[in-house]
Amino acid sequence: MTKQYIEQGKTIGIIGGGQLGQMMALSAKYGGMKVIVLDPTPHCPAGQVADDQIVAPYADVKAIEELARRSDVLTYEFENVDLKALEDVADKVSVPQGTNLLYTTKNRIREKTFLRDKAGMKTAPFRAVKSQADLDAAIKDLGYPCVLKTCEGGYDGHGQLVLHSAEDLKNPEVAKIIEFGDDILEGWVNFKLECSVMVARNADGQVAVFPVSENIHWNEILHESIVPARISDKTAQLAKDDAVKIAHAINLRGILGVEMFVTEDGDIYINELAPRPHNSGHYSIEACNFSQFDVHDRAICNWPLPKIKLLSPVVMVNVLGQHVAGARKLTQEKPNWHFHDYGKAEIRHNRKMGHITILTDDVNKTLKEIDDTNVWRDKH
Ligand code: AMP
Repeated sequence: MTKQYIEQGKTIGIIGGGQLGQMMALSAKYGGMKVIVLDPTPHCPAGQVADDQIVAPYADVKAIEELARRSDVLTYEFENVDLKALEDVADKVSVPQGTNLLYTTKNRIREKTFLRDKAGMKTAPFRAVKSQADLDAAIKDLGYPCVLKTCEGGYDGHGQLVLHSAEDLKNPEVAKIIEFGDDILEGWVNFKLECSVMVARNADGQVAVFPVSENIHWNEILHESIVPARISDKTAQLAKDDAVKIAHAINLRGILGVEMFVTEDGDIYINELAPRPHNSGHYSIEACNFSQFDVHDRAICNWPLPKIKLLSPVVMVNVLGQHVAGARKLTQEKPNWHFHDYGKAEIRHNRKMGHITILTDDVNKTLKEIDDTNVWRDKH
């Protein structure tokens, strides 16, 4: 039987037109693919580089059907895709990623249960919380500090609260999260650093795994990624092995971001899965032989996957709304920095507007160089 794959020149349909879709589209265009994006904002970041954009809400079933009709393979750049709509078009177009990964990762309890019970991973201890009584019982079990999170819809620190003592229960945010009705309480993981690994897998079960990125967050939003992560070779290998195990356990197609906590002893706890390219993998565009976007596109088209090599140590720093003016000036001062700007029309505080990738021989020197620009200092 001949192998099923999507040939060059065919069309990739992307649901969502933000920066992840943009970089997916750019990579696809290098390979001669056609790209159509579905996004409600005209001239959205991905729409600016795609062959065409369908301007409609993400949940517009007719628009998803049109995208399916005009594409050979369908993918997405964010997790809040309408699962039913995706299932409904699966007879019209190849949807290699299916819906199981999205279904599992959409909900923190389902995700953690999968990670612990099916993939054999360590996670923070957790309890389902649907009421104040559940919360009281869960705190008794897990103790302080602990983290209360909504099961769905949270991102970049929204919909979650760290509880240090009973005093924190008076915070009105607690009642708001409880009101949501479907929450999780997680025990505290005393981690030394946060890391992530991007992993991709194709329909033939081949995997490609990226080097471990060390991630520094400011206010729960990624600030910098440092690759290779400053952990032992043994821990880095464990992190990559875990990502590959998860990819097989979930029968992954396409790329997955695996966010991890690493403890002082080198133990790895899986925090979250991102069923798509991830901000912490942007470094791979310049620092690896293939980027996370190249590999995602290959995987969904069922092309063979390359062995990923890190070509140089690297630091990636995010450009949020409050950093844009300063970062734009740096284009005139830093000839060796790679400046990415997603082309978003509106600049807002904490909105991801772009990122900068810096290949380096000396990570500490580069971190200091970033700090010395004053563009990021105190601008959280
Ligand atoms: P999340 O939305 O789950 O990625 O959480 C956002 C951030 O909160 C993480 O990147 C960690 O810095 C912190 N965090 C979340 N859950 C825990 C936990 N169980 N233990 C310690 N820190 C946590």
